[in-house]
Amino acid sequence: MGFTTPDKPVDVAALFPELAELARTAVRLHPREGTTTAHESSLGGPLLWPAEEPWPVCTIDHDDPRPLTSAEGRVLEVRKNALHDEMNALVGVGTQGDMAPFYRELDKVQASIREVRRVEFADDPAASLPMVAIAQFYARDIPELPFPEGTDVCQVLWCPVDHEPHYAPRPQVWWRDSSTVKALATALEPDEDSEPGCLPRACRIAPERVVEFPDSDELASAELRDRIAEWEQGQKWRYGPHLSAAPGTKVGGWGYWIQDIAQPECSEGHRMDLLLTVASAEHGDVGVWMAQETAAELEFQREVRFTLTNGSTGNTWIGKDEEFDAAGFSLFGHGVAPGSVTVSEELVPVTNSAPRGMDLMLGDVGNLYLFVCPTCPDRPTAVEFQCY
Ligand SMILES: [Zn+2]
Ligand SMILES: [Zn+2]
Repeated sequence: MGFTTPDKPVDVAALFPELAELARTAVRLHPREGTTTAHESSLGGPLLWPAEEPWPVCTIDHDDPRPLTSAEGRVLEVRKNALHDEMNALVGVGTQGDMAPFYRELDKVQASIREVRRVEFADDPAASLPMVAIAQFYARDIPELPFPEGTDVCQVLWCPVDHEPHYAPRPQVWWRDSSTVKALATALEPDEDSEPGCLPRACRIAPERVVEFPDSDELASAELRDRIAEWEQGQKWRYGPHLSAAPGTKVGGWGYWIQDIAQPECSEGHRMDLLLTVASAEHGDVGVWMAQETAAELEFQREVRFTLTNGSTGNTWIGKDEEFDAAGFSLFGHGVAPGSVTVSEELVPVTNSAPRGMDLMLGDVGNLYLFVCPTCPDRPTAVEFQCY
């Protein structure tokens, strides 16, 4: 099945010509639960993984109660405990601002502890968790990806527990030449310690190209930002959520940011591109980013408002073709006052009646943003995670 995002209700590049040169194409993936093979592109589906290559496991930074034994490690752990004590002493007497320097130092100390721990326990990691398949893209389906010379498959797996510093699953990317894979490996089953919200349902994808524009915070010109904000006054549509970047799981394009914008650089100073956004929420609003085919699957309802016999007002919801039975309805033991019922003309989608796709729950309805350097030959990656 193909998916069609409706044409935008407003042509922002015509209204604000500076936006035209910032347009990028994103590939929306529209995941739907379904069976695929290792020889197809998918999200959360089987991978073209060579039998002779061990299935990847993650061994880093998982919970480990063992104390560090090196002198450096002991100093760090003493400092971490002291910081916890100082922060606990401030709780209730200090203000949020007082805590900020402690959090900053704690982040640094914990990062150093992770580094020391990786060295000290290199031969005996706390727990090794099988990584899980998140995405597989063949170049024939998504040629927009920066496939390194001689490769035609991009595979993304992640460790399905929260990792610092983002408290999000830790992804890793593999690029392959499909012609070199003769026999397939059997994927390891996810560990029972995996976060359920980080384990995707296997989905087919239906790539759809859409044109996107940057979040207004990503616009270099303050004057343009102000002009857009002014135009939004009295408009039904808002530039950010409705007219700039697509929500949901997608390849490339501009970031659909939940918090601040992110624009990482690789260690060589190259600007990195969005390789993949993995989203907990797929669809976006009806009439704007929700694909017509998805909207056709939604259930709709109407709101009914009324006054109760005790004088208070109330409301309820009925199916779009249902009749409201005022005589048979009561709320907290009170009936509906005769002649007080109004049924809304407007149809409202039933929450969660749209297909759930991969059915992920990353943090609180979060997005994981995977960046790649399109310039460095080994394609270094970076991760950003944001949630509500
Ligand atoms: Zn891990
Ligand atoms: Zn680079």
